[in-house]
Amino acid sequence: MLLRSGGEGGSGIIRGMSAIIVNGAEIGKRIRAEVAAEVAELAAKGITPGLAVILVGEDRASATYVRSKQKACGKAGIHSELQHLPDTTGQEELIRRIGELNARDEIDGILVQKPLPKGIDYQAVVDAMDPTKDVDGFHPVSVGRLTIGLETFVPATPLGVMEILREHKVAIEGARAVVVGRSDIVGKPMALLLMHGHATVTICHSRTRDLAGVCREADILVAATGRTAMVTPEFVKEGATVIDVGINDVDDEKRVRELFGDDPKRLGDLEKKGYTLAGDVHPAVAEKAGLFTPVPGGVGRLTIAMLLKNCVQAARMRRGG
Ligand code: NAP
Repeated sequence: MLLRSGGEGGSGIIRGMSAIIVNGAEIGKRIRAEVAAEVAELAAKGITPGLAVILVGEDRASATYVRSKQKACGKAGIHSELQHLPDTTGQEELIRRIGELNARDEIDGILVQKPLPKGIDYQAVVDAMDPTKDVDGFHPVSVGRLTIGLETFVPATPLGVMEILREHKVAIEGARAVVVGRSDIVGKPMALLLMHGHATVTICHSRTRDLAGVCREADILVAATGRTAMVTPEFVKEGATVIDVGINDVDDEKRVRELFGDDPKRLGDLEKKGYTLAGDVHPAVAEKAGLFTPVPGGVGRLTIAMLLKNCVQAARMRRGG
């Protein structure tokens, strides 16, 4: 049973047409405040959590994302440092640098920003990481520990989804959950977290038969496909919780109008930036769902906050805070 509340407020809820529309920014703010309080506690013990980020090449979106992570670290009192390397950097050099960071006690978390230049095996680089510093949760040790339900680092995006479900008191135990997408960073860990929460979980992908029919069984439906608005109202059971992980650029005016009507904010985005963001769930689903995460403003607003949380967890676990 979902709790509804009127108006915009500290509970992270905005009243929608029909569904409760999740306010990811509010939940993210609450998590960042919790992280800052934990950082202050660690500081009293002489510990400053430290994050090292490796960025290779000049991909603009990656550079922007890395800057946002560093800014968020700074605000939370987490030390962060960036190794920005040329796109000629080879796998051996990257692995050597990971080794150096593994050996530095003041570095609690290591991130390698994707995408890496062609010819570098991302997994080989992640495998070189000390698993106790794997704040992205991509190391096979983290994946294995998550699978068997041990304390570990969990990828930030599905962790953020769990925060949303918790914030809104969505009943997970015994619920039918459907996750559309089976990637290592979203779909699989999401399904595992829901299963550990005692949901009955179905994982769907590009070869699932009768996808809409399977999705309609869901009390909790998570879409993580990278396919703009593919989850339409016919995929959704009345009153279901619908979590949209997708972040897709839409740059075609006709498509923007199809999805958002004459919404001046969306048309303004298109004019100013050349695109607007849309999720994997069609906005019309908000009229059928019980709880709905918008794009932007939903799941995406929690990702960096959850990463900060993982950094603090790393410092605590490794340095005994
Ligand atoms: P991904 O690695 O490309 O995986 C997409 C998954 O969706 C695959 O398992 C694929 O199935 C499945 N899929 C694709 N088309 C489908 C279809 N027509 N029907 C059913 N399943 C289909 O993507 P990802 O990294 O998981 O990301 C998914 C989305 O989340 C993207 O929009 C991405 O930008 C976004 N994202 C957001 C955040 C955030 O912070 N909010 C973080 C990460 C990702 P197959 O396995 O069969 O190919």
